[in-house]
Amino acid sequence: MQELAIKNVGMIYKLPNGGSVEALRDVSFTLGEGRILTLLGPSGCGKTTLLNILAGFLAPTSGQVTLGDKVITGPGQDRGMVFQQGALFEWLSVEKNIGFGPRMNGRPASETKKVVNDLLGTVGLSGFGEKAVYELSGGMQQRVALARCLANDPELILMDEPLGALDALTREKMQGLILKLWKETGKTIILVTHSVEEALFLGDKLFVMAPRPGRIHSIYDL
Ligand code: ADP
Ligand code: MG
Repeated sequence: MQELAIKNVGMIYKLPNGGSVEALRDVSFTLGEGRILTLLGPSGCGKTTLLNILAGFLAPTSGQVTLGDKVITGPGQDRGMVFQQGALFEWLSVEKNIGFGPRMNGRPASETKKVVNDLLGTVGLSGFGEKAVYELSGGMQQRVALARCLANDPELILMDEPLGALDALTREKMQGLILKLWKETGKTIILVTHSVEEALFLGDKLFVMAPRPGRIHSIYDL
């Protein structure tokens, strides 16, 4: 059982002018394997900061995060991130984007190809493997981003407003896809959104965050 445990996490950014911003104060929670948690809150309440700490991109100024029995001290393959947009490798084809992780891990080409083909099917992009990223619509690009994340088989998937840049219809379709992936893969997912509807629709647990300093304001089991 790989429980995620966040203990008294605080984050204070130091500013170049000598000031500081308290982005998170005393955030604590645990999340069991296979849950889907949505984080809802206004802009600036520390949602991205929290995800970056969980991803290991940022070290908190206080507190600690553990996944299973490992303390998180940096990025790792056990955690994958899907950003709002624009995080694909524009100079690589769709299949090269999705296969990036396995390739970097030195998996044999034939194995990588199989992973990529399976994932293209999973996200509904069969036949698009050889396309360039710029040939795809925004929704299709986010499907590639999801597939690229899944290719590393992470235990925890972090999504920072992954559907925020999409039109309403595409967004609805993608919400369905995320739910389907969650049910099929049993992955633990934390998804940040500022849409109340989305947070309610996707979450089986929902945290509402409050700003200045960023903290968890209320918790709902859905
Ligand atoms: P959210 O994702 O909820 O909009 P963020 O985590 O991006 O919030 O930011 C939380 C607060 O921390 C904001 O006040 C923001 O201005 C500040 N902040 C974020 N990143 C930095 C940084 N690198 N340096 C200084 N302040 C930052
Ligand atoms: Mg943000």
